[in-house]
Amino acid sequence: MTSSQTSKKKGRVFSGARPTGRQHLGNYLGAIQNFVALQENYDCIHCIVDLHALTTMDSTEDLRQNSYEMALDWLAAGIRPEDSIIFIQSHVPEVTELHTILSMVTPLGKLTDLPTFKEKARQQPHNVNYGLVGYPVLMTADIVLYKADTVPVGIDQAPHLEFAREVVRSFNYRYNTNVLIEPQMKATEMPKVIGIDGQQKMSKSLNNHIEMASTPEETQARVMQMVTDPARIRRTDPGDPDVCNVFSLHKNFSSPEEIEMVNLECRRAGIGCVQCKQLLARNLNTSLEPFRARRTEFAQKPEGVWEILRDGAERAQVIAKKTMAEVREAVGLP
Ligand code: SF4
Repeated sequence: MTSSQTSKKKGRVFSGARPTGRQHLGNYLGAIQNFVALQENYDCIHCIVDLHALTTMDSTEDLRQNSYEMALDWLAAGIRPEDSIIFIQSHVPEVTELHTILSMVTPLGKLTDLPTFKEKARQQPHNVNYGLVGYPVLMTADIVLYKADTVPVGIDQAPHLEFAREVVRSFNYRYNTNVLIEPQMKATEMPKVIGIDGQQKMSKSLNNHIEMASTPEETQARVMQMVTDPARIRRTDPGDPDVCNVFSLHKNFSSPEEIEMVNLECRRAGIGCVQCKQLLARNLNTSLEPFRARRTEFAQKPEGVWEILRDGAERAQVIAKKTMAEVREAVGLP
């Protein structure tokens, strides 16, 4: 895309995600497909936030590989490096400088009062580190360093963005400037995808996930393990698709006719759960086929993926350096 085409876009989007390695259907339906769609109308900056990951990690041995695998999935899913910037957070160290400067205008009490901090401190009482407290400040630095005006977040993330906006206001007020932009929330429908256990949000750590990059056979096996309507015990019992996670996935991966058929036949026991899952597995594999083919192509040249990430970091750093020059000037650093 040419720069003139780019300039017609509505604004600049920033999104960050921790390097969790191979992505699953929850990541795809909840975020990645939205990232891909946003490229049409926005300048998009997608960041793999490895520094954020350090706040909760006991071991970093998989950090590099997980960052690579995640980039591979994003690229294979359709994030276009020629249109969007995709990079690794720590490759643009200016973010840590901005984090330090923004931390001076952030009251400590506000950070320790945040429900997310309290929750994390509960989850890892052995490791309530300084980075964990400052996490929202680093997140603010991520967004404002690149002058992103739009941040796509689910409604549950709204308080985080409001926090970022407050930090920006404090900075601009303290230094009597307007160099930092208050990001706007782009409320996005981010469906909560339930795992194969039928209960909890799909997550790698709970091992209730279906990886996008799995083989068709692995995908089929995972789908067959899915928990269905718990009240449907025998094949002859009518089921309720509205409480069945298999049906939720059908809604994303099956044709309207198939969705209608399952909705009807499940309720009158006209279809069994095994057959219903086989249909879902087939449709899932068909939908993921182009993604998997592209992933294989990218994976054949790992150096090419690292090159894309390095190039993304270089482009991101051009913006970052400019912002930091303005910030240093505004603060009055000698
Ligand atoms: S038939 Fe399908 S939708 Fe109905 S309970 Fe079984 S798996 Fe769920």
